[in-house]
Amino acid sequence: MRYAILSDIHGNLEALDAVLADAASRADAILCLGDIVGYGADPVACIERVAERAELVIAGNHEHGVAGLLALDWFNDWARAAAEWTRGRLDLDHLSWLAGRPLVGHTDDATLVHASPDRPAEWEYLVSADDGYGVFAAFATRVCFVGHSHRPGAWSLGSSGRAHEPDATAIELERGRRYLINVGSVGQPRDRDPRAAYALWDVDGRRVTIRRVTYDLATARRKILAAGLPRFLAERLTIGA
Ligand code: ZN
Repeated sequence: MRYAILSDIHGNLEALDAVLADAASRADAILCLGDIVGYGADPVACIERVAERAELVIAGNHEHGVAGLLALDWFNDWARAAAEWTRGRLDLDHLSWLAGRPLVGHTDDATLVHASPDRPAEWEYLVSADDGYGVFAAFATRVCFVGHSHRPGAWSLGSSGRAHEPDATAIELERGRRYLINVGSVGQPRDRDPRAAYALWDVDGRRVTIRRVTYDLATARRKILAAGLPRFLAERLTIGA
């Protein structure tokens, strides 16, 4: 079994379609770790694509913000503006579907969660080595996949010690070790690489690969500006930060 694991699409349809095309011949099923909406100009198309294609969809903080489950004062100004704009474009079916996504999911020997397996509704960011090591007790599976920081990376723990690879691109899942893996962001990468990111998990081959995919960034930017969303949300796509 091979899974494509997508997170933080953020209404960027051009990035989502490029990733789905890249994954088509490489993955048997698609899993989504949330933040389908927010920031980008195509929330409806992104929701409909993911709802149709993904086997399991976990809720992110942007789903909760748009659906009214998380107060918008939790967000910074750009995110709040985007959440309000997004809410105005969704109908009740979209909103109730977003609100109905679970906070945590499981498949094979993995836990799937948007931000952190430890108190997932607190939406904490796992960035440093210690951030990651601190949450291993909060999941019981061999692997936990997260998104939220928009930066791919991997932490692992085992009898031979700890390892933190902030820029991991290929992770071999060794026996006797457990892993926390951030799959990066499809629609708004923040690791200074503007290409869309997602993870391919080859369950039998015991390997996770972070793939980077170029997409039609100019169109995604143009749509954000035409929608009247904050200019910064278009500009940051170009620098990947
Ligand atoms: Zn996000």
